[in-house]
Amino acid sequence: MRGVVLHAPGDVRVEERADPAILAPTDAVIRLSATCVCGSDLWPYRGIERVERPSPMGHEYVGVVAAVGDEVRTVRPGQFVVGSFFASDNTCEICRAGYQSSCVDREPIGAFGSQAELLRVPLADGTLVATPDVPPDDLVPSFLAASDVLGTGWFGAVAAEVGPSKTVAVVGDGAVGLLGVLAARQLGADRIIAMSRHEPRQKLATEYGATDIVTERGDEGVARVKDLTDGLGAHSVIEAVGTQEAMMQAVRSTRPGGHVGFVGVSHGVELPGQELFFSHVHLHGGPAPVRRFLPELIDLIWNRRIDPGRVFDLELPLDRAAEGYAAMDDRSAIKTLLTV
Ligand SMILES: [Zn+2]
Repeated sequence: MRGVVLHAPGDVRVEERADPAILAPTDAVIRLSATCVCGSDLWPYRGIERVERPSPMGHEYVGVVAAVGDEVRTVRPGQFVVGSFFASDNTCEICRAGYQSSCVDREPIGAFGSQAELLRVPLADGTLVATPDVPPDDLVPSFLAASDVLGTGWFGAVAAEVGPSKTVAVVGDGAVGLLGVLAARQLGADRIIAMSRHEPRQKLATEYGATDIVTERGDEGVARVKDLTDGLGAHSVIEAVGTQEAMMQAVRSTRPGGHVGFVGVSHGVELPGQELFFSHVHLHGGPAPVRRFLPELIDLIWNRRIDPGRVFDLELPLDRAAEGYAAMDDRSAIKTLLTV
């Protein structure tokens, strides 16, 4: 099969890789319908995150089940499935509490590389969710979004305790931040402040439900959020970047007693203890337990209640993956979909 491999910072290639096979009776192998490049793929691409190289890339995926092991019960060949970026058993205590991305048996899909024609998914019953039928082509990007960026934005909103009558601020205008806006709207937020200085992203944020746009960042961004909230700060803030500046912007934009849902993969973030102590802010986040939300998200997409696939503003065949990485690296694309 063909698959994306990172050889060095800035050097991704599509090359021939071994076809995956069923190794355990709980495995499935799926033939991908589409895959995509994640903002978190840019950390190793930029050489900021060290990885073993050459490294297969990708952890977001949708596709049709090609084969299953003897013990797989809930998915079968021919079904269209969505999975999350950590395989999980969905039966341990941690999974049952809703934290499948910390499952005691978890396996990172990124290690197998989903930017490829085929993918082995361990713990298929606990990881994959089938759609009601094979979806029409126009729904595929939205299901692909559910595999990570929608599930992650949704978890950010849930972790930030978004709900009716709340004012929400979203730090970060990448795909996760934009879908955090969508999630906040779905969860009934009263007012949604999107923090973005990029016009096309502001437009999509508004279409997804943002009521206010703040272009300032850092301390000025915090001051603008305070201006918009009677000097108090937002009830709920979604942090979807992962840098020190973004995290502090999130903490400082939250009112005392409010909640930060931090879902940007943290890189070099250090929290000042005393400021945190006096902030009275709740912090919750981490790698999104996407599996918790998949049944609900699949239902919303299948019934065309939400359209998260619009975050894909560049579509390329798998063989041109390198262009897709470059476009996201220079921010000319929000998110690249790779057709397989
Ligand atoms: Zn588990």
